[in-house]
Amino acid sequence: MQGEPMSKEFVFFSGDYGLSDPYLDLESGLLPAAVLLDSNTLYGDGIFEGIRIYGGRIFKLKEHLNRLWNSASSLQIEMPYTRQELTGILRTLGRKNEIRGTGYIRLVVTRGRRLDLGINPRKVGRPTVFIFARSLQLYPKEFYELGLSVITAKTRRTPPVCANPNVKTCNYINNILAVVEGNAENVPEVIMLTTEGKVCECSADNIFIVKDGKALTPPTENILIGVTRNTILEIAKRLGLETGEKSFGPLEVHQADEVFLTGSGAEVAPIVRVDGKTIGNGKPGRITIMLLEAFRKEVDNPENSVPIFE
Ligand code: PMP
Repeated sequence: MQGEPMSKEFVFFSGDYGLSDPYLDLESGLLPAAVLLDSNTLYGDGIFEGIRIYGGRIFKLKEHLNRLWNSASSLQIEMPYTRQELTGILRTLGRKNEIRGTGYIRLVVTRGRRLDLGINPRKVGRPTVFIFARSLQLYPKEFYELGLSVITAKTRRTPPVCANPNVKTCNYINNILAVVEGNAENVPEVIMLTTEGKVCECSADNIFIVKDGKALTPPTENILIGVTRNTILEIAKRLGLETGEKSFGPLEVHQADEVFLTGSGAEVAPIVRVDGKTIGNGKPGRITIMLLEAFRKEVDNPENSVPIFE
């Protein structure tokens, strides 16, 4: 994702680092070297959310904050702000960066500054919070008009007994290894399988297949439960489409009538080739387009968002 160049970018940064003003100019050079001791810097010990802004409004903020709070409780990180305080911070940062159109928020909460170089979370101060809020150009139109090619990665998704994919941690090495495979094949996204060989999700998106008019997506056990995924399930039901949370393998993806991905960044992205095999007639499918159009309306509905200005 490409951020539009901004004259001056403010970021929010708070934690055990002795800064008086948490709204920093990104280029001010004010961050102390002690940030190198942060649990996140050393071990990826933190959680995050990627949130979209449409028309100067923060989309599905409540849902993202709910997921953030769930992630924090899974990792036993004590949230240093209330939902209301955090909402206020996001709005202030959005105003400081003058985001009136389309944008993106990256909200990170880490376990905090470490007292030593070990891994024991007992030896950590209070949580660190840092936030970016940027204007964002949308993905190119062709992305949605032509559809994308993806491959199935050999790297399997971390199973829930090791680190639960429901938790959105800052440790993305599992997903990044799959993206490295995608890069070798020049594809923008990759499908990941569970250790049992079932499709679960993509490196940073959820996946749906459409078969005989029914939109199916893998069950929640082995995935990050996407805010966009849930929105699409709701929209599909409202449109009277049949949906299901069902386990399926790579063969069902290859033989699907339509395939699409969902995510805060990609929104609803049609997939027209998987592992070199053409999906349907090689063009974005009818139901995919219907859902994409309905999703675009959903982002314009003020009931789903919180304004930055006003
Ligand atoms: N799965 C993974 C692993 C992700 O990183 C993301 C992006 N947050 C998603 C799915 C999609 O989630 P959402 O719709 O909430 O952006």
